[in-house]
Amino acid sequence: MTIFSTLKSYISEMKMSHIYKPLMLIELIKGNGKASGRKIAKSFLDYDETQIDYYREIVKKMPFNYISKSLKELKREKENYYIEAFNLTKEEKGELIALCNKRLDEYIDKRGIKNILSHRSKSLGVISGSIKYEVLKRAKNRCELCGIESSKKALEVDHIHPRSRGGKDELLNYQALCYSCNASKGNKDNQDFRDILKTYDDRSDECIFCDISKQKIILENKLVVAIKDNYPITKDHYLIVPKRHIQTYFELYQPELNASNQLLIETKQILMKKDKSIEGFNIAINSGEVAGQTIFHCHIHLIPRRRGDVKDPRGGLRGIFKDKQIY
Ligand code: AMP
Ligand code: ZN
Repeated sequence: MTIFSTLKSYISEMKMSHIYKPLMLIELIKGNGKASGRKIAKSFLDYDETQIDYYREIVKKMPFNYISKSLKELKREKENYYIEAFNLTKEEKGELIALCNKRLDEYIDKRGIKNILSHRSKSLGVISGSIKYEVLKRAKNRCELCGIESSKKALEVDHIHPRSRGGKDELLNYQALCYSCNASKGNKDNQDFRDILKTYDDRSDECIFCDISKQKIILENKLVVAIKDNYPITKDHYLIVPKRHIQTYFELYQPELNASNQLLIETKQILMKKDKSIEGFNIAINSGEVAGQTIFHCHIHLIPRRRGDVKDPRGGLRGIFKDKQIY
């Protein structure tokens, strides 16, 4: 078989769940059998409506607004742009485009190709593609603030605590935001995050959950520990405890929420693996004295449940009010 017929039969038969395969092949064929990852990625971008959408916003907000301030001939009608009284010859057009290209080259030479869009990551420094991929995967392709799908608005990877203010380059400090949420977050960027970063280390001397040395830790990540409850309601009743001393769930920062959820899931998985009788869980938070909280350091109860552990489990947490448990 010639490479032509091999390719032809592959292309006719290939299964497609995305646009990637034909686009990659087109680039390879155009490049006489070779194409860089960058080139192939660029051809994907041509089809990425969310990116195009993002840049349509940029056109409106940045170059149009700025150019039209000094160049009165530049006009906009809805989303179409035009230069009034435009009557250039072919040569004049060529000369002006060459001049634009010259200015572009000079700019890129001065800044470096990697830095020309660095304003997009307010964080100084570019977030690598593979980290971006991990963050988007974790966010399940939705904005982690408003929930919009990535197919409707392009998602950007954002440092929760800006890098310029001491925020770290780690998964816990990243979130996927759509460009609208990211832009409105930007307005608050003048806040001094250094103070916030220090608060992660808040501990209280009188608090038994702050004194980790006294606890049986079974799992831990940077921000949260999972400890054994000293007076378990059921066997292997665990508490998910953020390390920072705060009283209630509502004070948790987004990275602590992520980290708590991560540990909740990991603890659950370990328990289910080692104890096959566990079939369900109560995940509970007593927030405030009136709601029954007795230790005023935020914690999430993870209570394994087994068939037959109470006579009639229906209603679960509703049982706090005995007469309301069954409805
Ligand atoms: P809450 O009533 O929601 O504040 O829950 C406090 C939980 O902490 C209870 O389930 C207690 O059994 C548990 N507990 C109390 N003292 C300790 C301790 N020293 N170490 C671990 N768990 C504790
Ligand atoms: Zn504490």
